[in-house]
Amino acid sequence: MLRLFDTAVGDIVEIVPVTSGRFSMYVCGPTVYDLAHLGHGRYALVFDILRRYLQWRGLDVRHVSNITDVDDKILERAETENRSPWEVASEFEGKWFSTMAKLGVLEPHSIPHATDYVHKMIELIDSLVRTGVAYQGEDGIYFDVSEIEDYGLLARQSLDSLKAGARIAEKDFKRSPMDFVLWKFSGDSSWSWDSPWGPGRPGWHTECVVMSVDILGEEFDLHGGGLDLSFPHHENERAQAEAMHYSFSRHWVHNGFVMVGSEKMSKSLGNFTTLDDLLDHTDPRAYRLLVLQSHYRSPLEVNSQTIAEASRALARLDATYQRVIEAGGDLSGASFSDIELRRFIEAMDYDLDTPTAMARLFELRSLVNQSLDEGRLVEAVSLGATMAHLLGALGLVLREGGGEELPAGVVELLERRELARSERDFDLSDRLRNDILELGFSVEDTTSGPKVRKL
Ligand SMILES: [Zn+2]
Repeated sequence: MLRLFDTAVGDIVEIVPVTSGRFSMYVCGPTVYDLAHLGHGRYALVFDILRRYLQWRGLDVRHVSNITDVDDKILERAETENRSPWEVASEFEGKWFSTMAKLGVLEPHSIPHATDYVHKMIELIDSLVRTGVAYQGEDGIYFDVSEIEDYGLLARQSLDSLKAGARIAEKDFKRSPMDFVLWKFSGDSSWSWDSPWGPGRPGWHTECVVMSVDILGEEFDLHGGGLDLSFPHHENERAQAEAMHYSFSRHWVHNGFVMVGSEKMSKSLGNFTTLDDLLDHTDPRAYRLLVLQSHYRSPLEVNSQTIAEASRALARLDATYQRVIEAGGDLSGASFSDIELRRFIEAMDYDLDTPTAMARLFELRSLVNQSLDEGRLVEAVSLGATMAHLLGALGLVLREGGGEELPAGVVELLERRELARSERDFDLSDRLRNDILELGFSVEDTTSGPKVRKL
């Protein structure tokens, strides 16, 4: 039974899917106005690892993650660069997905775009206005948070204490400083949509309510994102869903920040390092390993030292894998170690304890080496196959040749092929294998994952 820390409860809880055997997750995606930074990489990896693990456990996972392609930040960049906001959004969306492919993050099953849902957002805002939960202010339509009894749940604070700590610039017309904008009147900006209240743009917090419910239904399993989204973004989503009487997300899961020199990683602190900077200089699997070695809720320190350590650890895993193969071990026919599978599941099921799972996998690596040293090949092969298989379940595919990098295009095709195989779409999987062949690489499927060789 999987347990996760639910921010709404403030504790680790049992996860019982809405529909047995299935799992529906909505993860807030990027606002496409700039390049992805390390924090984006972490949340994408954390939820990729969760998804892969659940799939590996046999659940039919539906993963939805949106693209916020309407936002003031997109408009600001477009105005500064004298371009259309559509062009800015499309450029950074393309860059986002190419970075995610490098990182080995599986594409979500659905990728809704905010701009495709503006009419549905208007419908929802209109219902909120009609039921008196939303009201018209000078510059837009606002949500009245006092209408929601437990507002502040995801911040783990009451409305009164939130009000006391409010730093939001006061607008006289607002009933409470915590009231948030649902629809912004566009003024003289040309980037706008027609609405019952005149031309304007949606605020940020409505899109995810509309898109998640449209795709996953009024009740789904998990809503996730980085910890910075828990309040106000997720709380404001929850407030709207509550006002609409949706059951909405059963659980709220958030990952910790990325720290660089002990400061929270964010653009506003001026320590903006793009994810591409990192991935261009490091095997992308090293960042996944670093993420796996810290608990998803803990802060993650990313600097040249922690990255170098992760790269060395990765090289050790690759080297052991290669050693088993060179010893003549046939990993594809090996039986896995039941006890190791059980240990892995035990760690992962308890709030996705990847540090414990990884520590055990490194011990397993030592056991593989020891078995090889002592000439016990059958045992080495079984343990080695188990190690590679479990790492593969977390999206970390071991390679022969000490971690020699595959071209990003091959990695991307390989990821898509693995997804196709997990969904039993063998026609697509065969077509992707041919595409990989055309790039000069062969793929052999083994129980420990695909084995790729340069031709
Ligand atoms: Zn969202």
